[in-house]
Amino acid sequence: MDTKYIFVTGGVVSSLGKGIISASIGKLLQARGYKVTIQKFDPYINIDPGTLNPYEHGECYVTEDGFETDLDLGHYERFTGIHTTRHNSITTGRIYKTVIDRERHGDYLGKTIQVVPHITDEIKRRMLREDEQDEELDFVITEVGGTIGDIESAPFMEAIRQLRWQLGRDAVCVHLTYVPYLKAADELKTKPTQHSVKELQGMGIQPDILVLRTERHLSDAIRLKVASFCNVDLECVVQSEDMSSIYEVPVSMQRQGLDAAIMRKIGIPVGETPAMKPWHEFLEKQRNATKEVHIGLVGKYDLQDAYKSIRESLNLAGIYNDVKARIHFVNSEELTTENVATQLDGMAGIVICPGFGSRGIEGKIIAAEYGRTHDVPTFGICLGMQMMVIEFARNVLGYKDANSAEMDAQTPHNVIDMMEEQKSITQMGGTMRLGAYDCELREGSRAAEAYQDPCGKTARHTTIRERHRHRYEFNNQYKKEYEQAGMQCVGINPAADLVEIVEIPEKRWYIGTQFHPEYSSTVLHPHPLFVSFIKACF
Ligand code: GLN
Repeated sequence: MDTKYIFVTGGVVSSLGKGIISASIGKLLQARGYKVTIQKFDPYINIDPGTLNPYEHGECYVTEDGFETDLDLGHYERFTGIHTTRHNSITTGRIYKTVIDRERHGDYLGKTIQVVPHITDEIKRRMLREDEQDEELDFVITEVGGTIGDIESAPFMEAIRQLRWQLGRDAVCVHLTYVPYLKAADELKTKPTQHSVKELQGMGIQPDILVLRTERHLSDAIRLKVASFCNVDLECVVQSEDMSSIYEVPVSMQRQGLDAAIMRKIGIPVGETPAMKPWHEFLEKQRNATKEVHIGLVGKYDLQDAYKSIRESLNLAGIYNDVKARIHFVNSEELTTENVATQLDGMAGIVICPGFGSRGIEGKIIAAEYGRTHDVPTFGICLGMQMMVIEFARNVLGYKDANSAEMDAQTPHNVIDMMEEQKSITQMGGTMRLGAYDCELREGSRAAEAYQDPCGKTARHTTIRERHRHRYEFNNQYKKEYEQAGMQCVGINPAADLVEIVEIPEKRWYIGTQFHPEYSSTVLHPHPLFVSFIKACF
């Protein structure tokens, strides 16, 4: 089968959950046995979201191949289990950079370089994944960030318009809009959807399928109205009602025939509806997991999306333990030795979050101390692990001034230091230790035990591969002292001899990882460390 292309755009407002819809479409087509990839095109000028503040854009998600990407790629991976790469996250900045570099190289000698056709051609090439060494793909799903009508997304829309013309039935446009409910009138309003579709049509794109986001159930009459005003078949107007969990969305979309509608539009036989048994089993587990386990998430960003993958990993790990992980954000900037006991009171477990810079780190150190001295299961991730290490140096090894070179370049006890290969780097963006690296686990350690997989789904591992995003590392000069005092370095990167995991074995669960396990936790394969952490919490 020739590769088919699905474009997902959004209108009316942002935050409608285009990423979830794209991931759901991917999941449903994958369940039908198709080879799928999902990619995100973002209209901002940054080369990648790596340099963006999480307040602006939520978490930065890191792929196996070490690219800093949009958090929607996390949804794609969690839903489908298919790894994304640097080719799945494209920004306007990257498109322009490629074109400008080519211009300087003389590739267009004599020509005026313009948005149309040069920028749009480059967008098209990337949408078609012309340079990629993909295995044969049946479907490429392309989600475009932003909202229809944004000035900056116009070249993407033009590229889609041209591709639809070029590809004919091999391309399908899915447009996501919002149907607001007006309380005073007690009515659901379709006008914003009509306007949004008109805007799209004005750019020469007729959507094939409309997904209507709504807080209330839409009657057939409303769907019919939208269908007839927007030139879309009734069966191609589906609704995406608020759900108790985002993982219910694929099932709801399947029930309404979204995947079947896409296949019909393309002209491939629809066949039987896949049962998606493992997915349904997961949902069943999720519905039954009502007993709550309270987890304190110690970080500096009071924003849901800033720690998206960690939150989802905890949720998933809870479900596989038949409990509901109730996550309480604890602002590390407000944590003090005086209030830590009340702030963390009732928490069955503590997660110390990743991050950069010194804001809020003392609170993270206080949380690490509290977890260690009160023997509350504690999980430190990246900066969180580094703070566990600093806390141990200050309060157990007696180095009161211990710090990370990131926070205090002059500290005489730099238990966390800059990695050698990072010292000469001055450029920002994509220059950290990024992506998946091997890690050897010490036999018999708590971490190794966790990787035996508490779900019993995979075989025992002694060498694992996990994703990274950092510049600083555990300073090996102190390794012996730590181990003698009870903090063990139980995960080591063999190539560079970097400490990847520390733990205090005599505690109930006190583990810090220099890598980010949250990036590789998926719905059907929750990360073993998270599963083991939650298990220790009750
Ligand atoms: N700032 C720390 C470093 O660069 C930790 C990074 C992180 O938590 N992702 O090493």
